[in-house]
Amino acid sequence: MTSRLYYTESYRTTFDAQVMSCDPVGEAVHVVLDQTAFYPTSGGQPFDTGTLGGAAVSDVIDREDGEIAHVTSGKFNTGDVVQGTIDWARRFDHMQQHTGQHVLSAAFDRLFSARTESFHMGTSAATIDLGREVTPSQIAKAEDEANRIVWQDRPVTARFASAGEAAAMPLRKEPARTGPLRLIDVEDFDLSACGGTHVARTGGIGIIAVGGWEKFRSGTRVEFLCGGRALGRFRHWRDSLSAVQKHLSVAPHEMAAAIERLQDESKSLQRTLRGMQEKLAVQEAAALVARGSREGGRVVIAAAIDGWDAQGLKALAVAAAAAEPSAVIALFTTNTPALVVIARGANGGIDAGAVLKALAAKFGGKGGGKPDLAQGGGLDATSTQLVEEARLLLLR
Ligand SMILES: [Zn+2]
Repeated sequence: MTSRLYYTESYRTTFDAQVMSCDPVGEAVHVVLDQTAFYPTSGGQPFDTGTLGGAAVSDVIDREDGEIAHVTSGKFNTGDVVQGTIDWARRFDHMQQHTGQHVLSAAFDRLFSARTESFHMGTSAATIDLGREVTPSQIAKAEDEANRIVWQDRPVTARFASAGEAAAMPLRKEPARTGPLRLIDVEDFDLSACGGTHVARTGGIGIIAVGGWEKFRSGTRVEFLCGGRALGRFRHWRDSLSAVQKHLSVAPHEMAAAIERLQDESKSLQRTLRGMQEKLAVQEAAALVARGSREGGRVVIAAAIDGWDAQGLKALAVAAAAAEPSAVIALFTTNTPALVVIARGANGGIDAGAVLKALAAKFGGKGGGKPDLAQGGGLDATSTQLVEEARLLLLR
C-alpha cells in the first residue's frame, strides 16, 4: 500500500519515491509509488496537482486496493526513483477550506445541534449540508463563533486511533469506516475522523465567511469561503459593487432603494408613453384611413410603419378600426423579423386570426388572436413583401 506522506506532513511539497508500477490507461499512465505527498480525491477534498519526474500530474486516484494512482503522461520504469512536487497554492487552498469546514461544522453543531451531513469542495466555493434548517441569525452566530476559533490560532493535530479507542471519544460524527481511524483535533473544539489535509493551526484558515445559503432537503445548504477564497470573493464583490456604484452614485447600503426608485420611475414613464402613444395613434390612424385604398367595399390599409413598438402598433390598428367600420388593416414594423397587427372595423368582414396564420405560414413567425384583432411576430420578409401579401389576404 502506498505510504501517505500527507497524513503526517501536510506542509510537505516535494518528495522522492520509488516507482512500484506504471500502467498505460488510454493516452495516460497510472503510476503507483511506494510513498506520496499527492492527495487523492476523497472525503470531499479534490486531488492535488503538480509534477512527477517533471511530468504534469492531471489526477490522483485513491484505489480500492489501498494504492494511490498518479495519472500523468511521463515515462516511468518500475524501480525508478522519481521526485514529486505538488502545486502548493492549490493544496494550501484545499487545506484552508477543509480545516475551515471542520471549524464551521463544529460551530453549527455546538451552538445549534445542526449536524453536517455532507461536505463538498468545488473549485470556487465549498458547501456543507446541515441536517436541520438554520435561520440567518443562527448562521451569523455560527460564523462569529468559527472565526473566534480561527483568531485564537488553536493547534490542529492529527493522530491515529483504533475503532475501539475512537468509540470512547467525543467524535462530532460517527465514523463511516471501520479499522484504524485518523482523528483531526482542533484543540478543545472539534474531534473528527478525517483523511484530508489541514493547516497546523486554526490561524492558517485566515477567515471563514458564509457566502450564501439555501434550503436543502430537510435542512440548509451553507456555502462558505475560507482564507484566500474569501479574499477573492471580497474582491469580486467589491469590483461589482463599485461598477454599480458608478452608475447609481449612491453608497452600497442605498443601492437597493435606488434601484427600486429607478424601476418605479421607469414604470411611470412607460405609463406616460402609452398614454401619449394612444393619443398619437388616433391622429395617425385618421391619416392611415385617408391613405387607404377603397376596394371591394373595404378600406384596405396595409403598411410597414417605422418607430412603433408592438403595443403602439396595436393601438394604431385599433384606432383605425374604430375610425373606419369598413377598414381592414395589416400593420408591420419595418425591422426583420417583423411584428404584425391585423385588425378590422365592425364591417370589415375578414378573420384577422386567419390572415395572421396565412402570413405566418408563408413567412414564418407566430402569433394569434380573434377575428377582429390578431398580433404576431417573427415574420421573415421585407416590408414590401409583407405589405403586398397582406393586401391580397385582406381583399379575400
Ligand atoms: Zn478534514
